[in-house]
Amino acid sequence: MPETRIHRHSTGPEGALVNAYLVETGEGIVALDGTLTVSDGRALRAQLESLGKPLLAVLVTHAHPDHYGGIVELVAGDDVPVVATVGVDAVIRRDDALKEEILRPMFGEEWPRERTFPNRTVSDGERVDLGGVSFTVLDLGPGESPHDSIWFLGDERRTVFLGDQVYDRKHAYLADGFLDEWLGHLERLRQELPADATLHVGHGGPVTPAHFESQREYVETFADAVRTADWSQPDAARAAVVERMTHLLPTDELQFLMELSIDPVAAKLGIEQSV
Ligand SMILES: [Zn+2]
Repeated sequence: MPETRIHRHSTGPEGALVNAYLVETGEGIVALDGTLTVSDGRALRAQLESLGKPLLAVLVTHAHPDHYGGIVELVAGDDVPVVATVGVDAVIRRDDALKEEILRPMFGEEWPRERTFPNRTVSDGERVDLGGVSFTVLDLGPGESPHDSIWFLGDERRTVFLGDQVYDRKHAYLADGFLDEWLGHLERLRQELPADATLHVGHGGPVTPAHFESQREYVETFADAVRTADWSQPDAARAAVVERMTHLLPTDELQFLMELSIDPVAAKLGIEQSV
């Protein structure tokens, strides 16, 4: 495989501590994901321009706004492929109006007024050749988001753009509620990826496949905490979930995402709240 360099672009807490990646080949740059906000999308574009090579394409891992919102600023009018699986593309289009409703009050003008959607779709196992380098997609389906995929750089499964299958010592967003499916992906990836793979994740990292185990524990603990809380007192139930999760993972990084997930997962588990 020709020489490549992977540049990670990490945002601050106001941009959800999200990563996008710029893969530099001899001929140009392939971006993986595009951050959330206007400012972060512009900063990513500035990093791209500092490398002095053209943007060849944007590959999208999954259907959450912190991974596609900033693509409009990254692309900045360039006529390039924005590539996602059929499922990721469909969910981004389906849910974008709802994300607008949720994110506009939270982020104001930092949530882009116009979002760039994928303009090219791929199916599971499809290979995309860009700048003398190949990328191959593994389509996962519902999991951390309503539709997840991951991308491999080159023909081996050693360099992986994993999206949010694993968070690196940060709390997680579980509100889409596909927790059994997510656990299935973690088990599958644990079995299928080589132990020495480098996982370029959506928040923090890079990490190793050893993290599949800690993420499994996190997801299972959250589901159990919501299920076993005493929902006759909803506020106390929510506090109990937060306490158990921050005990398991003593950080407040992205804690708000986990807190946002409690009520939706309780609803998905069929828990009747008395208030
Ligand atoms: Zn994310």
